[in-house]
Amino acid sequence: MSDAVSRAVAGPPSGAPRPDQLPAPAAPGPVAPGAPIPGQPLPLPEKRDSVRLEGVTKTYPNGKQALINVDLVIPEGDFIFLVGPSGAGKSTLIKLLVRDETASEGRVEVAGHDLGRMKKREVPLLRRRIGIVFQDFRLLPRKTVQENVAFALEVTGTPRKLMEPAVERALALVGLTEQARQRPDQLSGGEQQRTAIARAMVHDPRLIIADEPTGNLDPLISWEIIQLLLRINEMGTTVMMATHDAEVVTALRRRVVALEDGRVVRDEVGGYHREY
Ligand code: ADP
Repeated sequence: MSDAVSRAVAGPPSGAPRPDQLPAPAAPGPVAPGAPIPGQPLPLPEKRDSVRLEGVTKTYPNGKQALINVDLVIPEGDFIFLVGPSGAGKSTLIKLLVRDETASEGRVEVAGHDLGRMKKREVPLLRRRIGIVFQDFRLLPRKTVQENVAFALEVTGTPRKLMEPAVERALALVGLTEQARQRPDQLSGGEQQRTAIARAMVHDPRLIIADEPTGNLDPLISWEIIQLLLRINEMGTTVMMATHDAEVVTALRRRVVALEDGRVVRDEVGGYHREY
């Protein structure tokens, strides 16, 4: 389970390696200096940028340029809002970060890994380092809260005895211990989103990408979700939140990256500035 979650719910970490730590992606192939050794975990780079985009252009097969020459560095531990009108390229940017899509030009790095050079079979391992939260929660309706969270560990082959405490801690982090045995249809929207956040956190990601996480929630509940994301960020996880919620963005005075027509048109600490 997460160092961050452990710190939050069980005090400071002991410093000993956690038995449930997932291996970094293994990379086969010839070994160049500094290159990963086959069968070994990918060495984690010294430097800690969660995200680094250099000159990134994404052209879809129909010729549409969804991102044009985007440069963006998000140091580990940052909290950033990603804003912009519909069609600006926000989803495309997120798809590049989780490697649903690849850049047509330029370089995309996440947690130090160059996604352009990443092997297909390493992609699931990358995704364990990124927690994703969606507007529509995307929970499994027949599974309980704890089963939804555990499922994220199951699919990656986490030993059963490690799963239970990890799930418990993730649920404690989001305040859903009491609801662990309920199914999504027995939960409020806010509770469903907190379940999704627990699921995103259970792998101890370095980066949480929240794609309009409050889009389906009323303002009061939205604030609860934002507070939770802020707390997760304070514990050391980088958070990138795509949103149209001008009130939240303006109130929090965090770093705002604004996209328009595939370009970064603003990157500064501040408010929402514009209605999209
Ligand atoms: P946003 O998330 O900000 O609404 P998107 O990244 O979804 O923006 O879209 C950016 C632009 O790329 C839009 O013009 C959209 O129509 C186009 N686009 C998105 N996905 C595809 C695709 N798979 N094929 C072609 N064009 C796409």
